[in-house]
Amino acid sequence: MREAGVNLVSVGIFSWSRLEPVPGRYDFEWLDRVLDLLHGGGIAADLATGTASPPPWLVHQHPELLPMLADGVRLHHGARQHYCPSSPAYRDAAARLAEAMATHYHDHPALVMWHVGNEYGCHVPACYCDVSAADFRSWLQRRYQSIEELNRAWGTDFWSQRYSDWAEVIPPRRTPTWPNPTQSLDFQRFSSDALLECYEAERRELAEHAPGVPITTNFMSFFKPLDYWKWSQREDVVSNDAYPDPDDPESGLIAAMNGDLMRSLARGRPWVLMEQTPNRVNWRPVNAAKPPGLMRLWSLQQVARGADGILFFQWRQSRAGAEKWHSAMVPHGAPEHSRAWQEVKALGADLGKLDAVCGGGVDAQVAILLDWESWWALELPSKPSGELRQLDQVRAYYRHLFDANVAADFAHPTSDLTPYKVVLAPNLYLVGEAAAGNLDQYVKAGGTLVMSFFSGIVDPDDHVRLGGYPAPFKELLGLRVEDFLPLAPGRQIAVEFADGSQGGGDLWSELVTPHGAEEIATFGSGELAARPAVTRQHYGEGTAYYLATRLDPPSMSRVLSEVLARAEVAPTWSGPAGVEAVRRDSPQGRFLFLLNHGEEEVEAPVPAGGLELLSGERLASSSITLAARGVAIVLEPGSGPSAEAVEAARVPAEHAGEGSLAEAGERDA
Ligand SMILES: [Zn+2]
Repeated sequence: MREAGVNLVSVGIFSWSRLEPVPGRYDFEWLDRVLDLLHGGGIAADLATGTASPPPWLVHQHPELLPMLADGVRLHHGARQHYCPSSPAYRDAAARLAEAMATHYHDHPALVMWHVGNEYGCHVPACYCDVSAADFRSWLQRRYQSIEELNRAWGTDFWSQRYSDWAEVIPPRRTPTWPNPTQSLDFQRFSSDALLECYEAERRELAEHAPGVPITTNFMSFFKPLDYWKWSQREDVVSNDAYPDPDDPESGLIAAMNGDLMRSLARGRPWVLMEQTPNRVNWRPVNAAKPPGLMRLWSLQQVARGADGILFFQWRQSRAGAEKWHSAMVPHGAPEHSRAWQEVKALGADLGKLDAVCGGGVDAQVAILLDWESWWALELPSKPSGELRQLDQVRAYYRHLFDANVAADFAHPTSDLTPYKVVLAPNLYLVGEAAAGNLDQYVKAGGTLVMSFFSGIVDPDDHVRLGGYPAPFKELLGLRVEDFLPLAPGRQIAVEFADGSQGGGDLWSELVTPHGAEEIATFGSGELAARPAVTRQHYGEGTAYYLATRLDPPSMSRVLSEVLARAEVAPTWSGPAGVEAVRRDSPQGRFLFLLNHGEEEVEAPVPAGGLELLSGERLASSSITLAARGVAIVLEPGSGPSAEAVEAARVPAEHAGEGSLAEAGERDA
């Protein structure tokens, strides 16, 4: 580990059956030895509570804690995460283990962070059993107070679903056809909260018996079942697991989005990449190997987007068990013959040079709205089109920002949007009063909003907002949507811009009647010919754009380029295509990260006189050569404490790799 510059290890994540081999008898001897060894080697521990996989004895004591699918099928032990989130037996046993861990390890010198559970919601995001049904009813009683109020919210007069007693209410189990949509939406809210209660039960024990130790649980990037805006508020350090597919041509973009989401969830607190793979995963139909340089590129990309630490799953590749074909820092064979190991060692040395970057953020002038409740509601069945996917719409916007090197945060629609010059609202289907008022105020006060189709359609009960679509935004956008004309997969619709140039859209189109909005582009053919496709409305001191279709990437770039230019949002950097640029500010200075996603060497412009941290070279000229998948991190001249001071503060070369980001992150924490 020291050879690779490791200074933080997550340990014990699935160790319940070893830590508590029989009910109530804890065995910490082996873990004591591991933590003592780590500490002796100068390595800290992110100690897991080990509760993500209940031991077989607990399941046999309490078979009712096994989770149930919507069709009544029980899932059994023999894999992992086989527990009902609402089960008192599971929650209690997990809390007892967390208490025992905290009591035993609270003053162990290796302990720097707690890691609660693992990837909450993975495999079993919701449970439909009778225990969960009772918990769901309690949750609903808190939300609605009376059964009459539940009947109103769920619209139960439709299809004869009126409830006369709470006892009649169940989760949306398998039904002949679509279950009640508000019931489904509430069940998604409830299921995210039920898992959060599991996390909270353990967190309370840790905070009580080991006060002052930061607490995290690892997220899974854009994971639909859990409302991470809610979850992240309960963490001291946000951590993320990210496994983009090297075979996906947009994986670099997806990885960037993941990093931006984590930075946004952390809201100024530190965040770390908790898991990535050194090489292959084991869970896709075909598990592509990472080509040379890609692991380093994606690791430093996460640092660029705000991560203060980079970790891997897993340290040593297992010989047995379900993940023995998931790659590891130390492979099955001799490490000295492994490219992955050589790259892991080199990354450790690279990270050792980046202490000055830690604690810094990314100054974004653009926000992308993301609301889990709207995401859930949008993707419920029985819509004008079953092809609407929240993340597809987010990606349609993000693609341009990524290619143009424009930094963006993610934001909840009710959050403070005043720091942003431009706010993007992809498919914000469900909107509450607070969010509608917030967006209205934001534009009135001078902000620029870009909203796409099928937004502002329902309220938090998933009831259609009447008075013409999109009811809360008609005035703001200066238009009314008269009808939806979704497009079958593969069908395109022509779009004509005011200057005569042509573009296109797919997925969706709408019949829009402007009431004040000017037309930036119109549909070019068919029933919607000459009707608005893209509009702009001046409202208060600001501007609101509306997109009535999913524009193809060149048309989207054209619209967003205009929006960003008018709002005076400048790109971070301009240079050869395929090079990602992110500027990260820290108390030490401003760091320009240049990441070449291409497979060719390129010449990239840089601020002359800057210090390139990975090579330690002062840049004499105003360009730098980036190898294929190469990275440069340039401390911009005059951007903070001098480059000389940063150089002097760096760890001596013989210790390179020992002092690294996680250590600095630990100090910050
Ligand atoms: Zn259950």
